[in-house]
Amino acid sequence: MGIASTVKAFTLWEFVKAHALTLKYFFKPKATINYPFERNPVSPRFRGEHALRRYPNGEERCIACKLCEAICPAQAITIEAEPRDDGSRRTTRYDIDMTKCIYCGLCQEACPVDAIVEGPNYEFATETREELIYDKAKLLDNGDRWERAIAANLAADAAYR
Ligand code: SF4
Ligand code: SF4
Repeated sequence: MGIASTVKAFTLWEFVKAHALTLKYFFKPKATINYPFERNPVSPRFRGEHALRRYPNGEERCIACKLCEAICPAQAITIEAEPRDDGSRRTTRYDIDMTKCIYCGLCQEACPVDAIVEGPNYEFATETREELIYDKAKLLDNGDRWERAIAANLAADAAYR
């Protein structure tokens, strides 16, 4: 062992250096946040939990064209449809298996009426897989709950679509 190494060993040089480094960062602004009390901003293009939207009069936007079902690479979407008495075409079943979904956003891009969207919500972890099989009622409920944020995000990104 050389003299320099011996001196470092006896003066606990590495120990002193480590504490100096700790002190250097102790008073600097923190890089981490105290989630869930603090949150980072979320991009308008964030692809989170799915939602089915309605028009302001409460009517469902979805016209059961099945483009989203056809384009989904994970085959996570299942749609069944029937014409209503008034002749309009609406879904009778709209399921998304969220355990299959890869959050690619293609369903949203394919939809001609902005009905199916991936909203800003990322807090939808569940304890069972069954809870991640979303049906139409769940998706419409998501749409009602997140409509304000979804509409703002779509408006913010409209110029680039
Ligand atoms: S985000 Fe992609 S994988 Fe998920 S349902 Fe939509 S098209 Fe399918
Ligand atoms: S969500 Fe959009 S793309 Fe999918 S069936 Fe309805 S209207 Fe068509």
